[in-house]
Amino acid sequence: MFNLILFGPPGAGKGTQSEKLIDQYNLIHLSTGDILRSEVAAQTELGLKAKELMDRGDLVPDEIVIGMIRSKVEASLDANGFIFDGFPRTVAQAEALDTLLNELGTSITVLLALVVEEEELIKRLLNRGKDSGRADDADESIIHNRIAEYENKTSPLIGYYKEQGKFKDVVGTGSVDDIFNRLCESIDVLTS
Ligand code: AMP
Repeated sequence: MFNLILFGPPGAGKGTQSEKLIDQYNLIHLSTGDILRSEVAAQTELGLKAKELMDRGDLVPDEIVIGMIRSKVEASLDANGFIFDGFPRTVAQAEALDTLLNELGTSITVLLALVVEEEELIKRLLNRGKDSGRADDADESIIHNRIAEYENKTSPLIGYYKEQGKFKDVVGTGSVDDIFNRLCESIDVLTS
């Protein structure tokens, strides 16, 4: 299996690039943000619990997202591999993902980190907020909170994956196609 983590702060372009990468490499896209938003829309118990945290730009508890990822991965064991988008976001999530993949006889191949400056992230998210309908994209103070959550809880994963020799950063600015090509170059080196 080829298992990729597409990493980066909110607004780095993980969702956009994941959509292109799944077609190119025949992978399954697992976005915890998308899964949570569909739980919110369906007004499930989990969705109702998560909504308030999401609307504030806070992370939802580890056990919720870890459980969601486990059931999605276990439902697609015949896949070529997965793109994890927006997961893991804490060291506890990364450890749980390693344990899960290890149980299944596989592992993370690489983490590709999209690097984008904060000013550009805020601009992109406010722009997306005009038609995404997402409360967490519409308000600059919530966007700042999401970036702070990333800095405090998620960026330590860079060290976690560097230690495993799996970290690679990629310039996340320029056209969507330019960024896609850079990601493909990094992947092709690993798979050739
Ligand atoms: P995203 O679509 O990835 O920007 O995620 C939107 C929101 O969903 C985040 O601000 C969090 O509230 C929640 N969320 C998504 N993924 C995770 C995760 N792996 N851990 C905790 N919360 C998450």
